[in-house]
Amino acid sequence: MTESLTIALSKGRILDDTLPLLAAAGIEPLDDPRKSRKLIFDTNQPNIKLVIIRAADVPTFVEFGAADLGVAGKDVLMEHDGDLFELLDLGIARCRLMVAEPADIAANDDPANWSRLRIATKYVKIARRFFAAKGIQTEIIKLYGSMELAPLVGLADRIVDLVDTGNTLRANNLVEIEHIADISSWLVGNTASMKLKHELMQSTIAAVATALEATNE
Ligand code: AMP
Repeated sequence: MTESLTIALSKGRILDDTLPLLAAAGIEPLDDPRKSRKLIFDTNQPNIKLVIIRAADVPTFVEFGAADLGVAGKDVLMEHDGDLFELLDLGIARCRLMVAEPADIAANDDPANWSRLRIATKYVKIARRFFAAKGIQTEIIKLYGSMELAPLVGLADRIVDLVDTGNTLRANNLVEIEHIADISSWLVGNTASMKLKHELMQSTIAAVATALEATNE
């Protein structure tokens, strides 16, 4: 039986940056995923398919073998915290995961004195781990978006969110106060596929690595 691979990608900026990289690695979808509402795409490689799913679902698809490879942000991987291989840092969608707070609080605030915090975030596990490691008690409020609103309406004192240019924080009178992690997107792989589909996995990973080196030169 010929081996086949499924690669999971997510919509948005990761897709926009990953498609050119895959194309440089010789993998091109037959339809444009940015224009189509399809979820599964055949590619010019008869044995490689793409599935386009929500970013937070990519690690789940890869961990459980519904996809052999995937591209996911380090933020999503840290929050998922599952059993999969992180194969290549693609350097895509770079940003940082930060604790932020209102500028007027930051003016007289020292994180070294934090003992109890109320945090709004979609990164519940990451936030819990980060503050627990510092011995800080937290009440974590799970939100699915617009974290920046939480301190403005008294829902939480602080937020944990991704920051790129800092424009969103500035527009909401928030400032970065603690750095949790530098974030970029990674190529990840299913652990069983790495063994059972060794040849096709290795050749595909090598093609992506070569394309990545060429773009970084
Ligand atoms: P910025 O205003 O450029 O600092 O971007 C911050 C907003 O964009 C926040 O709402 C973030 O959640 C989101 N964001 C920034 N970088 C990324 C990324 N690499 N992936 C997903 N969302 C991001």
